[in-house]
Amino acid sequence: MVQEIRVRFAPSPTGPFHIGGARSALFNWLLARKTGGKLILRIEDTDLERSSRESEENIKEALRWLGINWDEGIDVGGPCGPYRQTERLGLYQEYTRRLLADGKAYECFCTEAELEAERQAMFDKGETPRYGGRCARLTEAEREEFRAAGRKPAIRFRVPENRQIVFHDLVRGTVAFDSNGIGDFVIVKSDGIPVYNYAVVLDDALMRITHVIRAEEHLSNTPRQILIYEALGFDKPEFGHISLILGKDRTKMSKRHGATSVEQYRSLGYLPEAIVNFLALLGWSPEGEQELFSVVELIRQFSLERVAKNPAVFDIDKLNWINAHYIRKASPELVLDLALPHLQAAGYVTEHLAAEKREWLVKVVAAVQEYISYAAQVVDHVDVFFNDRFEFESPEAAETLRDPDIPRVMSAFREKLAALPDLEPGGVQAVLKSITKELKVGGKKVYMPVRVALTGRMHGPDLANIIPLIGRERALERIAYSLSKLG
Ligand code: GLU
Repeated sequence: MVQEIRVRFAPSPTGPFHIGGARSALFNWLLARKTGGKLILRIEDTDLERSSRESEENIKEALRWLGINWDEGIDVGGPCGPYRQTERLGLYQEYTRRLLADGKAYECFCTEAELEAERQAMFDKGETPRYGGRCARLTEAEREEFRAAGRKPAIRFRVPENRQIVFHDLVRGTVAFDSNGIGDFVIVKSDGIPVYNYAVVLDDALMRITHVIRAEEHLSNTPRQILIYEALGFDKPEFGHISLILGKDRTKMSKRHGATSVEQYRSLGYLPEAIVNFLALLGWSPEGEQELFSVVELIRQFSLERVAKNPAVFDIDKLNWINAHYIRKASPELVLDLALPHLQAAGYVTEHLAAEKREWLVKVVAAVQEYISYAAQVVDHVDVFFNDRFEFESPEAAETLRDPDIPRVMSAFREKLAALPDLEPGGVQAVLKSITKELKVGGKKVYMPVRVALTGRMHGPDLANIIPLIGRERALERIAYSLSKLG
């Protein structure tokens, strides 16, 4: 029988949910869904000071929004729980006792000041700081003395000397580390809380994880983790470290590059299917040229073999292009819902008005939907629908109304508009066309000046859509207003 693939996403709930974390979650999820395996969601909250329930909630909320569900883990439970590390402390102690009894770990009574002095001395000698092993061979009597002096020990793992730690990384190929560079490291702090490198091994082993797929920044942790697997006689999982995400300037993605958290993109009105599509391409490359993928296609086509070793570059233009595609396919009702907070913030509507004018707002959004990349951008296109007292955007725009033919064009337009039985895009289109015919003037003398007279601008949403939305009365008033401004 082929072994079931069990992968995990194990975030530390210490702040906003970074786009890189979402990518790790997605790759694991795709692997689980593709193979009929299981995704486990574990919360790594042993950094008590920085972890918060609020951040945990944000992570879960963002995963759900992206459509990344988990088969075992917090909230859903499962046979390997609990799934929050702070609820597993008792479990870890059992293994720590075993490592101590076997001499594979030892109590370290060094104070922070002593350790700092040691680090500094090594640093001054040009050496890479590492623990020198002061407590590695204490006698029971010496330990007793420290305890009596009130010192609380940390637990250090005894790193074997002269070992090449070699493993095959599913993304990076063969990776080797020299154990002599590592130095005995702390696995349990003096307050009894295990550190990441230790808890992660116990959890991955006890949760029977078969593939550890995570960010490249954890690559240098892997040799330490492998030593712990070996010391406890656990089977090792496969490891795959996916590349860093860089900004377009090829430095590590950070706030300088714009929004970095899933929440930020969500509130700007990006769609989850676009984020998933985009994240999948951050490091994974499909076989052909295709760039737009539904989730079903991603599940079918995803493979670790095609996850690249070189860094992934976060290209916001590409994300916007992908999102624009999904926005065009979305219902205007949905796009309106996503745009509303932004329309309110910009002062176009109040909450009350938004409910009252919903039908009209949906049509406004439908008229601009094809021009935007994400819902917040609706704001940049709707002034023409709200603002009757606009300025000409440029002297060039005003100039289009000074043509000698304009008075004829405008009066024909006014007349025909007033006579239109139904104000709908088809009728408006026909009116504009009939003016060019009847007055024997080119389209340039009709479409652009009418647009400028109605909006003050030379470009924008389709005129035939704008006019029914502002209505006959406002349209006629706007024309009079524009012409009066010409002076
Ligand atoms: N809690 C770690 C992090 O958020 C998980 C690393 C891992 O996947 O092993 O970076």
